[in-house]
Amino acid sequence: MTIFELPTCSGTNTLEPLFQPELLKRFDINGPRYTSYPTADRFHGQFSGNDYKAALKGCAQHQKPISLYFHLPFCPNICYYCGCNKIITKDHGRSAKYIKYLAKEMNLVTEVMGAAKKIPVTQLHWGGGTPTFLSHAEMRELMGHIQDHFELQEGGEYSIEIDPRRVGESDIQLLAELGFNRISLGVQDFNLAVQEAVHRVQTIEETQAVIDWARRYGFNSVSVDLIYGLPKQTPDTFKQTVDAVIGMNPDRLSVYSYAHLPTIFKPQRRIAEVDLPVAKDKLDILANTIDQLNQAGYVFIGMDHFAKPNDELAIAQQQGRLHRNFQGYSTQAECDLLAFGISSIGKVHDTYPQNLKTLDEYYHALDQHELPTMRGLKLNKDDILRRELIGELMCQFQLNTEQFAKNHDISFRDYFSKEMLELKELEEAGLLEWDGEVINIPTKGRLLVRRVAMAFDRHLREASTQAKYSKVV
Ligand code: SF4
Repeated sequence: MTIFELPTCSGTNTLEPLFQPELLKRFDINGPRYTSYPTADRFHGQFSGNDYKAALKGCAQHQKPISLYFHLPFCPNICYYCGCNKIITKDHGRSAKYIKYLAKEMNLVTEVMGAAKKIPVTQLHWGGGTPTFLSHAEMRELMGHIQDHFELQEGGEYSIEIDPRRVGESDIQLLAELGFNRISLGVQDFNLAVQEAVHRVQTIEETQAVIDWARRYGFNSVSVDLIYGLPKQTPDTFKQTVDAVIGMNPDRLSVYSYAHLPTIFKPQRRIAEVDLPVAKDKLDILANTIDQLNQAGYVFIGMDHFAKPNDELAIAQQQGRLHRNFQGYSTQAECDLLAFGISSIGKVHDTYPQNLKTLDEYYHALDQHELPTMRGLKLNKDDILRRELIGELMCQFQLNTEQFAKNHDISFRDYFSKEMLELKELEEAGLLEWDGEVINIPTKGRLLVRRVAMAFDRHLREASTQAKYSKVV
């Protein structure tokens, strides 16, 4: 079933199909999404607030622009597929208190950094949860606290996740006024039976209205999230959803595969397994989706992401400037990420700090004037080297091994001698090409790019705990 021609990241059309069912069946084992390397399941509790403090001090000395992430965990209703750290509540008093503590956390972090003046920021993301659970006054208050410490630079990426069921025109207008220029809309599926099965009923009209307002108030980029593999989905119904979304003309689309892990994510226990599409249907859904997006002119960016060819992400990829971070792909240069709020994960120099997961613990730590760090990781030299390698593969589908070896003063073949056998196997299967100088992932291997990345994941090799990760299909 080789049915697609997709513009590649190099901007050229190729006859080679992206969708290769045989390869998917053979190599689509559970694997990480590599929004970080090492992945979050390698973090440990010996990493403390003091380790984060040491990294923050170094971070202030660099004087480079940074990224900010705020986790806003409140949602008024549960979606059964949800795997996020969220708090279901209708009590808005809870978010009012939370914002006060986010301000405390910012005070503490910038105090440790010893920042003499406002810190330049080129990237800001409010994620959740449902960030627009906050009232207008709360959103203004939070942005005010942010601007007390940080200076949002011209041309930066300032994005927010939106639940279209929960916003009106005045919300979108306010977000634009506060400086947001990118909006990401959760849709998942427009079919009513699917929506009822996941407890998230959302009409095409209310979604379209949000996109229209985003255009009206000057948002640069509108992104839509879909999930395939949800209960009651069929290839036909999902085709209709994708057509409806294409009709809305978003700049970007994320199409995630649903990972049914009810032992880890409690809300998923309310999904009847018998309603989940069988493997063949799920494969067909993916095939149709790629075909529809291709026909509509979207470019495959990598790992679940598609964009219009003139979108910044597609252009950045063509120019070798694409980066991967906890939010997916980004055009902003690798920079330190300060993350605020419960369970949020930052990236500061050679560390990944993660905050405490519950409100009580988070509030308690901040009341003690302590960083609310739960766990984390300090990367060693090997982690840093592999992080760069995996990032290149995930973003550019290519790695100049000769240059990489030179930059790191290693012999590529010697350093990765344990990986050579597996790379050979992947090469023979067509997932990668290596002429001794450049590793290239051809179009047919790109849906499985993380499978190639996994070959270089030393922690995965040593721990061998792949079962809890999701698959492409
Ligand atoms: S999927 Fe999003 S909106 Fe739904 S419960 Fe989870 S965090 Fe909230």
